[in-house]
Amino acid sequence: MADMSTEKNVQELLDLLSAKGNDTYFGEEVSVLEHCLQCAYFAEQSHASPSTIAAALLHDIGHILHDLPEDHTRQGKDGWHEEIGARYLSQWFDEAVTEPVRLHVAAKRYLCATDPSYIAKLSDASIESMKVQGGIMSSDEASAFAALPAATRAVQLRRWDEEAKIVDLKVPGLQHYLPILRAALMGAEADQV
Ligand code: FE
Repeated sequence: MADMSTEKNVQELLDLLSAKGNDTYFGEEVSVLEHCLQCAYFAEQSHASPSTIAAALLHDIGHILHDLPEDHTRQGKDGWHEEIGARYLSQWFDEAVTEPVRLHVAAKRYLCATDPSYIAKLSDASIESMKVQGGIMSSDEASAFAALPAATRAVQLRRWDEEAKIVDLKVPGLQHYLPILRAALMGAEADQV
């Protein structure tokens, strides 16, 4: 059974996401919340683990936490939302959740270097933001990325991230992910025993 602190932490995460539910998602047609819910939905459809589904749901939480304006990448600034998000989530989750989150921007730069069909799937906003995120990886950078333990899960997350911009797609709401987040949190606690 989940204890009180697990319940409190899960609720804090859901409250953060729902508070920003109507903010538009950086030049896309969907809101931040719709984007996060679609990303988690695609992860669940792919039979991903609770930790990976949690990472998909929470991968952009760094955007919600930092206070840069919505169009900050167009102004040539990078908010490092992946680092901010991973650090925030590491209060409660282990690397099974935090590493795919931390690497999901690097995964875009990696996929652009290694999959010729991928770049065509990127939205204009995503191509624009990559310029301030370091651009397409060199082959040395791509090899180093592929050797990271969480590389495969980060790449999976990135592909769902790209899909998760569909206007009016009907997907489960935040409450659906309560038991999945609890399982991911309990997994991290079990690792620490
Ligand atoms: Fe995203």
